[in-house]
Amino acid sequence: MTPLPLSRRSLIGWLGAATALPLIAACTAKAATFPIQHTDAEWKKLLTPAQYNILRQEGTERPFTSPLNDEHRKGTFVCAADGNALFASTTKFDSGTGWPSFWKPLPGGVATKNDYSLGIPRTEVHCTRCGGHLGHVFNDGPKPTGLRYCMNGDAMKFRAG
Ligand SMILES: [Zn+2]
Repeated sequence: MTPLPLSRRSLIGWLGAATALPLIAACTAKAATFPIQHTDAEWKKLLTPAQYNILRQEGTERPFTSPLNDEHRKGTFVCAADGNALFASTTKFDSGTGWPSFWKPLPGGVATKNDYSLGIPRTEVHCTRCGGHLGHVFNDGPKPTGLRYCMNGDAMKFRAG
């Protein structure tokens, strides 16, 4: 005769393992998607604290703090972590938000995912090479796309030319 408490405990243990598995699988799948891979400790060494907070922890810089807001030269905005080309200067516009804003990414530069972290649905934007968080995209941008890529300046670097 198996006492009830034991079987109940093993059932709870089994349920716990079953619910934890898909989560682990999802994390592994996401990490494997991006060609540039580093451990969390490596990212901390490679990035400045501000870059790490945005790119690896989906943080947001304070508005009107990035020097890239006032960057108006011809060139390319690239991922601060790996130099992946993200936006052309020709698609940059002044959104008035205090964050560098663009109406179109460069082909293959960024990817998006749904983000419900604030309780409202938003579209998160990240680098296709390292998976680093860049910002969000909204549909209140200017023509011709009507999109507003609201980016963190600390997640990017500018290459003139
Ligand atoms: Zn990147």
